[in-house]
Amino acid sequence: MNSFKDIFETYNWDETKASIYAKTSADVEWALSVENRTLEDFKALVSPAAAPYLEQMAAISQQLTLKRFGKVIQMYLPLYLSNECKNICTYCGFSYDNKVKRKTLSPMEIMQEVGIIKAMGYDHVLLVTGEDNENVHVDYFKKVLDLIRPHFSHISMEVQPLDLGDYQQLTPYGLNTVLVYQETYHREDYRKHHPKGKKSNFDYRLETPDRLGQANIHKMGLGVLIGLEDWRTDCFFTALHLNYLEKKYWQTKYSLSFPRLRPFSGGLEPKVEMSDRELVQLICAYRIFNSEVELSMSTRESENFRNHVIKLGITNISAGSKTNPGGYAVEPESLEQFEISDERSPEQIARVIRSQGYEPVWKDWDNSLAQ
Ligand code: SF4
Repeated sequence: MNSFKDIFETYNWDETKASIYAKTSADVEWALSVENRTLEDFKALVSPAAAPYLEQMAAISQQLTLKRFGKVIQMYLPLYLSNECKNICTYCGFSYDNKVKRKTLSPMEIMQEVGIIKAMGYDHVLLVTGEDNENVHVDYFKKVLDLIRPHFSHISMEVQPLDLGDYQQLTPYGLNTVLVYQETYHREDYRKHHPKGKKSNFDYRLETPDRLGQANIHKMGLGVLIGLEDWRTDCFFTALHLNYLEKKYWQTKYSLSFPRLRPFSGGLEPKVEMSDRELVQLICAYRIFNSEVELSMSTRESENFRNHVIKLGITNISAGSKTNPGGYAVEPESLEQFEISDERSPEQIARVIRSQGYEPVWKDWDNSLAQ
């Protein structure tokens, strides 16, 4: 078995979807009663048949999260370095065909942003760029990592998928975590949403987590963009992917995200709407299926929703985020990748977390622990 692609190709989207929608309340009750859940149990937990069991799912999810992670929520913040992008993605404000002013932060501008982020209390930063290999490439990432490494104990990256050799070059520069979302596992729809640029190569993206595992990355994050396709089926494939990776690259840690499509300038309407109740169902299903995986929630979600899900299984949360390069200090008014929903400050979010009996933690993994 060389990569996840070999497993993925043994599945058929329509049959998988039909098997999820065929799950019954008996399947859900079984999935809730056993200790070690299979992928078939996960299907039951995300199926429409599980909707009446939401309270029970929430209680189990909360209990499993407390047992594994305790009463802590890790805090992180995105730092957008560049909005230059040569890809067309139908759902993104930075898409190549979207006429926006393009910008890549200079070292001095990066340090201005870092100053604000540090003043907010953050010690874990997520570097984000579009995909423009002429301007934002491995050498640029090395320079950025060198520059900011003394200021953060954990550095994550959400940029274009890279080759194995690139990841192997970046980890000694202090790269701890890489997020790479498949967007959708529906091959044909993926093609529709990514008509131009390197991102249109579905297989290269699908095999990126394998390259990260081979590069011994400390942690990787998976997920899909909810709204592009049937979320139950897409999230089943995410669980399948996670299951495969955990067995093969068992020294790596994993996190999952569940971003719902957000409005942006010139934006795409979601093909599939996911209600708040359904998102709670998904969060609980992921946790009940896998008690080790970190579950991460961004400021895409509303204040009210975020306040209510903190205790249900979430382990990582962002607050005070800007989704434009220079958004904290350099150019606050430039165009965002997508609209933020929860605009509260990190301190306000920290107070909400504390009011629920949990502790916000600003420091995740410390590089010195690996030496
Ligand atoms: S999602 Fe990423 S790759 Fe696609 S247009 Fe936006 S920045 Fe570029």
